[in-house]
Amino acid sequence: MTTDTPKHDILKRSDGGAVIMDGNRLRDEIIADIRAAIVKANQPKVCLATVLIGNNPASRIYVRQKRRKATEAGMISHHVELGDNASQIEAEAAVRELATDPNVHGILVQLPLPQGLDTSRILNPIPPAKDVDGLTPASLGRLVKGEAGHLPCTPLGVIRLLERYWIPTTGKRAVIIGRSILVGLPLVILLGRKGVDATPTLAHSRTRQLAELCRSADIVISAAGVAGLVTSDFLSAGATVIDVGISRVSKAIVGDVDFEACRNIAGAITPMPGGTGPMTIACLLQNTLEAAKKLGVL
Ligand code: NAD
Repeated sequence: MTTDTPKHDILKRSDGGAVIMDGNRLRDEIIADIRAAIVKANQPKVCLATVLIGNNPASRIYVRQKRRKATEAGMISHHVELGDNASQIEAEAAVRELATDPNVHGILVQLPLPQGLDTSRILNPIPPAKDVDGLTPASLGRLVKGEAGHLPCTPLGVIRLLERYWIPTTGKRAVIIGRSILVGLPLVILLGRKGVDATPTLAHSRTRQLAELCRSADIVISAAGVAGLVTSDFLSAGATVIDVGISRVSKAIVGDVDFEACRNIAGAITPMPGGTGPMTIACLLQNTLEAAKKLGVL
């Protein structure tokens, strides 16, 4: 299966309800394409460096998944780990070393960092060419200005899902719930860009009548981190709903969207897990491949 899979094959509906936007499947397609590109180029050493600081269990799982998928894509996974007691100077030095290492093409510093560390000062030394997470001020500035650069992985993953599932965006209303630099803000820019041409509205914790606002949207994207926030009351019939939020409830991973209630009214919906999470990883690896190409490796 590749990203050329025909429309009729990917748009299969589950038991009469919404089309399930399968992030695992699309991630696997993207990884297969990346692997094929690396093999075709005689297997140059494309290297993603991951930096894990501290002992946040969720961060450890996310980094492990990213490393495993990088290897599956035919890349070299270089890992740097610093303990909970790492100083600001040590953390910055680790990133600077990767920034100047010619064998490293992409750098991902897993967030959030332990309390007491200044995230900006640790991310800022990552050069735009290697900023495959797209979160440094230089990359975000390029995004705002519409200049070439790496796009933040989670918002890009949402765009890829919309593209792959043929969700029309031109002239459509989109409500994004959550205004973080990581997800909501970049999404507003990407959805409003020429070529995507949606009309985005940014909702947040102070937004009034959120359900009513969302009901006016063709596309609802929730990145609040509030389990079950988006109920069927938030959707008009046939709307697309994309769940970015991740919460742990009694050891289970759940999203912002009440999936069972919403799948009967939505036209298309992402599961959680299995929707946006795998796409974040796929886009990280796509960015790394692009970085390696621009750095002349393939
Ligand atoms: P954040 O805490 O920085 O931002 C949350 C935003 O949601 C804020 O802007 C806040 O105003 C808004 N919000 C909170 N409660 C709200 C409510 N009741 N109504 C409306 N808006 C509300 O979080 P973040 O870093 O943007 O992450 C958001 C969620 O996405 C988290 O659950 C995080 O774990 C998840 N996440 C998922 C992925 C993925 O790949 N799926 C990637 C990154 C983050």
